Amino acid sequence: MSRLVKIKPGQKVDLKKVSTLPPDDADKDVSAKLLKEWQVEFDELEDLFAFAAVKGLLINVQGMDAAGKDGACRRIFGMGNILTGRAVCFKVPTATELAHDYLWRIHKEAPARGEIVIFNRSHYEDVLVVKVHELAPAKDIELRYRQINDFERMLTENGVIILKFFLHISKEEQEKRLLRREENPRASWKLAAADWREREHWDEYQDVYEEALSRCSTEWAPWHIVPSDKKWWRDHQIVEVLIEHMRELRPGMEQFLEDLGVKRRAELAEWKAANLKPRA
Ligand code: ADP
Repeated sequence: MSRLVKIKPGQKVDLKKVSTLPPDDADKDVSAKLLKEWQVEFDELEDLFAFAAVKGLLINVQGMDAAGKDGACRRIFGMGNILTGRAVCFKVPTATELAHDYLWRIHKEAPARGEIVIFNRSHYEDVLVVKVHELAPAKDIELRYRQINDFERMLTENGVIILKFFLHISKEEQEKRLLRREENPRASWKLAAADWREREHWDEYQDVYEEALSRCSTEWAPWHIVPSDKKWWRDHQIVEVLIEHMRELRPGMEQFLEDLGVKRRAELAEWKAANLKPRA
């Protein structure tokens, strides 16, 4: 069983009490070996998932700047197949997006059945950055927690599995990563003055994250807190949760494909009987 923190519905989250580091008995080499094994299993499960097309899978990744959202998305994407997977990065909304309700741009990107979609940032920005910078009236933001839960419930009732991951890093680790980008000329493209500016709001961000994780972890769309100071442990944790969910679906997907095979064979036999003359 995965050891990362899955938040129970109604549970009050205190991020200061959750470690950003791997547990003492975690081992980088063991994780690397497991990830290799899971890669093979995931390939097969993903094919089944796409062919059976019974469910869609939405993987939502959130975290502070430099928490490793891009890296985690690359890792998950690297496990899969570009024919059945897609990643969407949600940026500052455009004028057209702002003219609609905040879920409009999100709903359009939700996965179809058989599809795996990774959200790199998401509708949660509308209760995170929007709250920290007061980009919408407080009374509107307050309504969004319920609206988000309703929206996610609607998606799950219509065949979408939702898994949400908060990449939890320490303030010290964020500083290290931002400084490393400055020191490494090949990573300079990632540098943004905004990242240092946003860092000044660290405590406010931790507060809005705690509120979002506490109020929007539901039975149908749980939040997981992923200790992310070490990238190898972050990847191990996320992929383990994914593979556990995909495994649970295996019997249903195999049964669906078997039934479909029987139906197709019967259709073919019927067509042949009606259209092909028996050989003399
Ligand atoms: P990233 O940091 O994800 O790699 P960017 O540097 O382009 O990519 O940052 C995207 C920015 O868009 C972030 O600062 C994020 O807070 C902002 N953003 C995303 N969604 C919203 C939103 N709904 N309202 C305001 N800002 C948003």
